[in-house]
Amino acid sequence: MRLSKSKYVRGLQCPKMLWMDKYMPEKAVVNQSLEAVFANGDVVGDLAMQYYGDFVEVTEFKEDGSLDLGKMIERTQREIENGTINICEASFSEDGLYCAVDILHKNSDGWDIVEVKSSSHIRDVYFDDMTYQLFVLKKAGLDITGIYNLHINGNYVRHGELDLQQLFTLEDCTETCFAKLADVQKNIDDISNYLADVGEIEPLKDIDVGCEKPYECIYYKYCSRHLPSPSVFDISRISSAKKYELYHKGIMSYEDVIEQGIKLSKNQKMQVEAEYKNLPPYIDKEKIKSCVDEYEYPIYYLDFETYQQTVPLFDDLKPNQQIPFQYSLHIQYEKGGELEHREFLGDPTTDPRRALCEQMCRDIPKDVCTLVYNDAFEKTRIREMAELYPYLAEHLMNIHDNIKDLMIPFKNKFYYSKELSGSYSIKYVLPALCPNDPELDYHSLEGIHNGSEAMNAYPDLVNHTPEEQAVIRKNLLAYCNLDTLAMVKVLEKLYDMC
Ligand code: SF4
Repeated sequence: MRLSKSKYVRGLQCPKMLWMDKYMPEKAVVNQSLEAVFANGDVVGDLAMQYYGDFVEVTEFKEDGSLDLGKMIERTQREIENGTINICEASFSEDGLYCAVDILHKNSDGWDIVEVKSSSHIRDVYFDDMTYQLFVLKKAGLDITGIYNLHINGNYVRHGELDLQQLFTLEDCTETCFAKLADVQKNIDDISNYLADVGEIEPLKDIDVGCEKPYECIYYKYCSRHLPSPSVFDISRISSAKKYELYHKGIMSYEDVIEQGIKLSKNQKMQVEAEYKNLPPYIDKEKIKSCVDEYEYPIYYLDFETYQQTVPLFDDLKPNQQIPFQYSLHIQYEKGGELEHREFLGDPTTDPRRALCEQMCRDIPKDVCTLVYNDAFEKTRIREMAELYPYLAEHLMNIHDNIKDLMIPFKNKFYYSKELSGSYSIKYVLPALCPNDPELDYHSLEGIHNGSEAMNAYPDLVNHTPEEQAVIRKNLLAYCNLDTLAMVKVLEKLYDMC
């Protein structure tokens, strides 16, 4: 068996993953946010190469675009012999164990292994990754004196040129990795023996809490296909430990949960009973009325879309800070009245925040009721921008202070129906209250159907032709428009209830 550092780490989490990679790779489900993480990782990796100054990158490709590992290994040897100080993607293969070191840095006594991560803190699983590299490089005869993790400093704020010494944090992991070194051979043997034992026959490995930690497994949908729907795994806010405890006791369906008298929180019980007993919607008219009575016309229905950059491209930004790039605004002057619509969509090559704030202050006058869905998110973004643009702060904070939250009746379960499946997201609330309306169906939108797709599509605009950009921008506007139209329709339904 040929192992790489990613295979080693995945094999430690569950060796069946490696079997699936070989025999059933088509069963993998890679979610979009994971793809965005990989894309961000590439940007971070490229920048990190410059952390120690001059470097040589030994990456080589074959004609088909795949990595040419043989050439990379040869080049690494040549660079070591030439006395190169920083070798990026330094590659080694020993006894079927392959690894590429992000940065192999020569110090006065030997070599440092530097592993680059795009996260802003160190995670336990990184130590397995780094210790595997230590194991392979020691086999290759290198004198390793230091092992470091180079990750993003979440507190860095960009002002002018990127400062790599500030953008990254270098953490010394030498002691921990050397302490774990003795485990590596046994771990490799365990993974190899498992795969040799099962051969071509699919392993009978049951799902467990380890399917989600340290990473959510891409084969989870396949391995959990025997679960009933709904199952204990669909209960809102149930902990991993509790759902697997129930599962391993054979308590899987909502029927099992009710018959066995499993203790749940009030909201979880409401969810399970509503679905299992097919209950009609629960409506607390008084409490709903007290919520909607707080909204005064004219109402400004507002929704932001945001995205994040691990490496801040613009000034006054921290890594991974939420950047509002778009909003939709429906305006209604009286109950049941006509709707006006305003919108903003930025340009991904520049910082969209100033233009967004300026237009928002023109679109939303002071002292009006602004209705959002989940006020914590919108309010935080507005506070951040008020701090950034003092000349708009008074107006922005006036909008902020007059925000009301349409999510409250659903979050507090003043309304609950089985269609919500324990959620109070507007993506569940809208179809529950307004079913069978194609105009209000997120699935009928072109291209962009949810916030994740919007946050990926916006920065990706720059990679498209002007014609394609026009289509994507239209789709982004249509998606955000539906988010605020949804609020209008949901409020109409709340009025009908009380
Ligand atoms: S879903 Fe779980 S059991 Fe299946 S391969 Fe992944 S980690 Fe292993």
